[in-house]
Amino acid sequence: MDLRTSGELASDQERAAVDALLGPPTSGWAGGQRSVLDRHVAHGGREARSRRHLLLPVLHAVQDRVGHISRGALDYVATRLNVPPAEIYGVASFYALFALEPRSQTVLHVCDDLACGLGSAALLCGQLAAALGPEGAPADAEVGWLRSPCLGQCDRCSAVLVQRSGVAPGHLTLAPVTASQALALAHQAVVPPPPAPVAVRGAGAGEGAGPGGGPQLLARVGRVDPTSLSSYRAHGGYQGLRRAVELGPAGVIRELRDARLLGRGGAACPTGVKWDAVASTPVRPHYVVCNADESEPGTFKDRVLMEEDPFALVEALTVAGYVTGAQRGFLYLRGEYPLAEHRLSTAIEAARTRGLLGQDVLGAGFGFDIELRRGAGAYIAGEETALFGSIEGHRAEPRNKPPFPASHGLFGKPTAVNNVETLITVLDVLRLGGPAFAGFGTEGSTGTRLFCLSGHVRAPGLYEAEFGLTLGELIELAGGLHHGRSLQAVLLGGAAGSFVGPDQLGLRLTFEDTRAAGATLGSGVVMVFDDTADMTAVVLRIARFFRDESCGQCVPCRVGTVRQEEALHRITSGAPLGGTHDELTLLDDVARVMRDASICGLGQSAANAVESALRLGLLPDGRAR
Ligand code: SF4
Repeated sequence: MDLRTSGELASDQERAAVDALLGPPTSGWAGGQRSVLDRHVAHGGREARSRRHLLLPVLHAVQDRVGHISRGALDYVATRLNVPPAEIYGVASFYALFALEPRSQTVLHVCDDLACGLGSAALLCGQLAAALGPEGAPADAEVGWLRSPCLGQCDRCSAVLVQRSGVAPGHLTLAPVTASQALALAHQAVVPPPPAPVAVRGAGAGEGAGPGGGPQLLARVGRVDPTSLSSYRAHGGYQGLRRAVELGPAGVIRELRDARLLGRGGAACPTGVKWDAVASTPVRPHYVVCNADESEPGTFKDRVLMEEDPFALVEALTVAGYVTGAQRGFLYLRGEYPLAEHRLSTAIEAARTRGLLGQDVLGAGFGFDIELRRGAGAYIAGEETALFGSIEGHRAEPRNKPPFPASHGLFGKPTAVNNVETLITVLDVLRLGGPAFAGFGTEGSTGTRLFCLSGHVRAPGLYEAEFGLTLGELIELAGGLHHGRSLQAVLLGGAAGSFVGPDQLGLRLTFEDTRAAGATLGSGVVMVFDDTADMTAVVLRIARFFRDESCGQCVPCRVGTVRQEEALHRITSGAPLGGTHDELTLLDDVARVMRDASICGLGQSAANAVESALRLGLLPDGRAR
């Protein structure tokens, strides 16, 4: 391709960062020195474009080394990958963790989302502003700070992600953290402090989720050494894969169907049906993808599993590859989970070394390997087709469905995509057998579920419980509310979910019961608000979140999320346009259009929480409806 670049040159550091990943350029056409041998023959086309999927890793490499991605670096990457610079710019500017202007070597990303907002986020931001100056990351300051959406640490607020660039780049999440601790770490080399203890309580935390020792996703959490394959094996690791090989792909699918296992990602798609659809598609190659881009505000369950039991995910993804006939799996991890990245990389490498990944897994005659991909700060990348785009080196923009991923997924090929919790649950299905697994939970929701308890409960943390537990029972498991406080509302399912009131404490937490109640389990978020919570601030934060995170591809969502936030500001500040009734009518219209005409779930669900808050009368002048 005859690329027109800006003419700005990449620095030696930028070129080195790119070349370390792509290898040195092989000709003048690929960004190297022009040689007489290059003549006028362009070597590019299909061969060069086949490396487009390396775009995100390359941009990470430049960002990590230099701290931002300059024009010259963009041009160099464009030349190396044979992609127009405008497209490279479009991708780099899409993700929040990439900077296109020079900025501080160390940036503190401070969570000011829902759970941290209930805690000390405002205080933390104020203290950092006093110490470092206003929000921003000016290039002439060694350390800067920025507000961030949810960092997935809602059980231990407040949270800060430290992003450090340079010769020894590093990423580190601090939670819970004070301003002085964050500043102390920001001014020195990043050394991981001992991680805060993981809160894992309730049924399933090793005490037995169901009668007779049923499904226990969290059984190993806190007990197994997450850095040791031997420790994992000593705790029953890799028995699931061995069982899968005994059963064969068709046998595993039969067990999954018997288990009536539904995906835990929100859409509740039957896992056996999904895997069967991919396995039986003649087009090759097949892929499996683990969606570990856990970005729903209030959600941290997958983080705990990946940090504390990483080999289980590697094993489960290998089972998925075996069953669906995929030889290559991708694990797409959100960029804000550095400890999970470290532990998963270590686990993948250890599995490779011991023949549990590679050409001949377990000596069973099938090949499978896993590539870990780091996201770069985009909530929408968690939408499955947007995630494919991100892996392929494009903006994380959702695609129209159909066609569905089972036939047209990653690189246009049949793909099974599952989230972390679903994959690890498959190991329990294999351990127990499908029919026995189906004996736990309810008819329509079998097994156990992970719930992320946060907000105004005494013991925030990750809880595993059999489906069928009521909302009130779950809140009691987490210690209930603080003394003297009363319940105002619960956010169920995350920002894309909805608020329920105290009258819903008897709601059984199953797919079918929540659906009938007009709510959703979503990603397992149960965020509790007592009578001290400023619900106006909470709802406005949700509206801001969706306005920020809309990918902008379709009008109903791009415009609707902005209009929704504007109307809410006017209503809650007592300055409605026309009257409150007019504003509420406008919100109704916007919600209907977003739900009916948006391409993906973000736009379709962006009004859920707002509508439910209005219904419950949680906003001033919003009037309960
Ligand atoms: Fe993008 Fe929103 Fe449309 Fe989804 S609904 S494709 S996030 S603009």
